[in-house]
Amino acid sequence: MSAGPPYNDPLRARHPGSGGAQPATYWQATAGPPPEDDGVLEGDHETEVAIIGGGYTGLSCAHYLASRSGIRPLVLEANTPAWGCSGRNGSFARPAVGRLPYAQWVGRWGEAGARQVFAEAMAALETVRTLIAEGGIDCERMPDGWLKLAHRPSRVSGLEKEQRLLRDTFGFEAELLDAEQLARGHVRGGEADGALRWSVSFAMHPLKLAYGLVDLARRSGARVHTASPVLGLAKRDGWHELRTSTGTVRARQVVFATNGYTLELAFPFLKGRLLPVLSNIVVTQPMTAEEIAAGNFITTDAMSDTRAMLYYYRRLPDNRIMLGGKGPPRETPEGMEAHKRHLLSAVAAKFPFMAEPRADYFWGGWVALTYDFMPHVASAEDDPSLHYALGYMGSGVSFSMHAGRRIAERIGTGEGQLPPPLSTGLPRFPAAAFRRLGQRAMMRWYAFQDGRD
Ligand SMILES: Cc1cc2nc3c(=O)[nH]c(=O)nc-3n(C[C@H](O)[C@H](O)[C@H](O)COP(=O)(O)OP(=O)(O)OC[C@H]3O[C@@H](n4cnc5c(N)ncnc54)[C@H](O)[C@@H]3O)c2cc1C
Repeated sequence: MSAGPPYNDPLRARHPGSGGAQPATYWQATAGPPPEDDGVLEGDHETEVAIIGGGYTGLSCAHYLASRSGIRPLVLEANTPAWGCSGRNGSFARPAVGRLPYAQWVGRWGEAGARQVFAEAMAALETVRTLIAEGGIDCERMPDGWLKLAHRPSRVSGLEKEQRLLRDTFGFEAELLDAEQLARGHVRGGEADGALRWSVSFAMHPLKLAYGLVDLARRSGARVHTASPVLGLAKRDGWHELRTSTGTVRARQVVFATNGYTLELAFPFLKGRLLPVLSNIVVTQPMTAEEIAAGNFITTDAMSDTRAMLYYYRRLPDNRIMLGGKGPPRETPEGMEAHKRHLLSAVAAKFPFMAEPRADYFWGGWVALTYDFMPHVASAEDDPSLHYALGYMGSGVSFSMHAGRRIAERIGTGEGQLPPPLSTGLPRFPAAAFRRLGQRAMMRWYAFQDGRD
């Protein structure tokens, strides 16, 4: 089974889809029916805050605005709820912020700055836990645990260094496991020469979580309109006027929660600031009891490896293996077929005890890269009433919900300001027209690094 967005490169898109159905992912097949929403926006409306995008960022922002500040925001989603990355991701909530390795944080922002960002990363996990608890959301939350596995023996020393950095700079204790401990206590796989284990991350069913957030936001007092793409935005007399094909919304403040699906042609203030990049996932057939026993596959931890272009993977509750990784620059049928085979070969390398893994599900989504590899939660330079939280770089499960919360706090109470690396404006890519070429060069460099000893 395969499913992709309705266009093959958001940079060229003029329209983010309209009412697009939830793609045929494993999550879609196992989430149950979608929650009720407020349907297509019809006619003219007025609200204090309009939110564009009905994924984790937009829904969390809507819930916090409605429940903590009494504002009744209106969410406009082009397709079905959580149609974007929030309904398609790898399901790992980690203390991750962007793509910059922890080792570079101190160099960029000094020790105090790095600690502030780390504290927000931890707070982001707490935000997810709080949302799950407040919504009573049944999203198959797994026990805590994330393993970062050395994909070559030479990468173990990097994990040792990371363990020291986490302890000395952030006061966080991660556990270092050798290959034997991994095989005994987690999984006896390939590309597993050691691991750093974090005790604070967890996996869940991402679409069930998103569906729960729709429900929670609406119960708190927000409206969530679907099949309602915002096609244009103008400002008159202190009001923003948002236009969809079937209605309009006047709003004092607008939040962009559009991720890798941002239409820069329609919203010029965001032009040249994001690079949408494909990430893809394959889900295999269920493992047999013999295969599970042969690999001693007992861990419920989320896993990723030490590659620069990393793979992320886990065992699903019905004993399938889910594995994802960075996709090709463009989404062509031939490219996707080749990439599916590539992901299956990664499954075979990591789980050699599984005979002939096949792709029962295969899908992708567009994550948003930024020039400085960090997400930004800020406002337009010339208009403080235009807010955005964008650029999670493929690790936004927890941080997107946290960013939505921080924007809601800023709008509602003036608090919730993030530290500078996160609250500064999105930098523009230099020579933005050539972003795709830059991406190709970067992927080649990463592939070279990943293959080195
Ligand atoms: C395959 C894959 C695996 C991933 N795995 C992980 C993981 O394991 N851990 C992790 O931390 N992160 C992961 N991510 C990233 C994570 O899913 C995202 O960072 C997060 O979901 C972003 O949420 P969001 O609400 O900002 O954006 P999205 O969920 O993408 O929502 C944006 C929404 O905006 C809507 N939209 C866009 N333009 C308009 C418009 N003009 N009008 C109305 N609506 C509009 C879109 O339809 C879309 O639904 C993964 C992403 C992918 C694709």
